[in-house]
Amino acid sequence: MSAHFISSVADVDPIVDRALNGESNRQQDQIELIASENIVSRAVLDALGHAMTNKTLEGYPGNRFHGGGQFVDIVEQLAIDRAKKLFGCEYANVQPHSGSQANLAVFFLLLQPGDPILSLDLAAGGHLSHGLTANLSGRWFTPHHYSVDPTSEVIDYNAVEAKALEVKPKILIAGGSAYPRTLDFERLSEIAKKVGAWLHVDMAHIAGLVAGGAHPSPFPHADIVTCTTTKTLRGPRGGLILTNNEDWFKRLQSAVFPGVQGSIHTQVVAAKAICLGEALQPTFADYAAQIVANARSLASTLQNRNIRIVSGGTDTHLVLLDLSNKGLTGKRAEIALNKVNITSNKNAIPNDSPRPKDWVGLRLGVSAATTRGLVETDFAELANIIADVIEAEAIGDLDTVIVAAQRRVARMCSDYPIYGGD
Ligand SMILES: *Cc1c(COP(=O)(O)O)cnc(C)c1O
Repeated sequence: MSAHFISSVADVDPIVDRALNGESNRQQDQIELIASENIVSRAVLDALGHAMTNKTLEGYPGNRFHGGGQFVDIVEQLAIDRAKKLFGCEYANVQPHSGSQANLAVFFLLLQPGDPILSLDLAAGGHLSHGLTANLSGRWFTPHHYSVDPTSEVIDYNAVEAKALEVKPKILIAGGSAYPRTLDFERLSEIAKKVGAWLHVDMAHIAGLVAGGAHPSPFPHADIVTCTTTKTLRGPRGGLILTNNEDWFKRLQSAVFPGVQGSIHTQVVAAKAICLGEALQPTFADYAAQIVANARSLASTLQNRNIRIVSGGTDTHLVLLDLSNKGLTGKRAEIALNKVNITSNKNAIPNDSPRPKDWVGLRLGVSAATTRGLVETDFAELANIIADVIEAEAIGDLDTVIVAAQRRVARMCSDYPIYGGD
């Protein structure tokens, strides 16, 4: 074998190597508050970099289109069994390459082109794969949306019911990427039944909270559940599909493969098995509870500093700020916080401008920093740093606080090293 193949990234490709090292240092030297991110375990990382990636396989354990699949069969079957045990359901497909891909397979299973679907409005925290017109889901089906109550900013289930009765969706989709409150799956299931729709819960953001018992489970209420293994579940980039419906399961398998995907990302399936095993440990429940406690500490401290929190608080890992009364856009706040090594993202809030550059929301999530070990007092400190930066940026005076804020963030980063600090 040529020497090229046993050389390190640093020897083979210094440009990529510098970027990889830069990324490791960036993660160590900033506090990650992007709600969809987390920090996976060393074991998950090892599986992702394993030579299992070389194996091409189509089909399912015990029924493959290629030979040599005996070891992939072991990890895929483990991932399936662990997913079923963790989420308390009968059937699991662990092959979707992403959350969007998992949703696509569900649509392929349950919908015909043009069918009406009903989901949470993007501006109220929904996800683009639930019927945005720029996404295939919005182009090939007929999307309708429900929203939150304009005063409480919590989902108005009576309004969901009225909308469902009006548009008669084939599937009612619950879940989103910027909705900070508990979802009432039982009520949603009643609505779905009443209008003859299937309830599809996309628990991508909250799967880890469900796994750890910090958010109610969509089962037994949902007909079908999708999620990412990224985000609060703290695994590799990929998706899962879960159901109790025996009649669907065979068709679901073919909806994933060959419906919307080809061969499996074998090394990712191994990493999924590991993260699901980690989430089955009792300590994962402590992690999930710590996430919610940290998010509440962040939200209440920000409120004490006169920053408005959408819906008045949080039940999850996610805190959504409304910066309109500070005269700031989410984008300006994101850039200012980035200067002190706090990473976040601009986001729409309910009834926000259609133009992302004018959005007044900022989305914060605590899962990654909670993995580092930060607790409630650290999040109160973080909230005060964030408030200092936002107040100063609002009056065009960021320079007066920037050095102190950078120093406080740097202290936190060194107090809580990632991967043992290497
Ligand atoms: C993140 C997310 C997805 C998409 O996951 P990808 O893996 O990025 O495709 C789907 N649905 C919801 C609700 C999400 O938050």
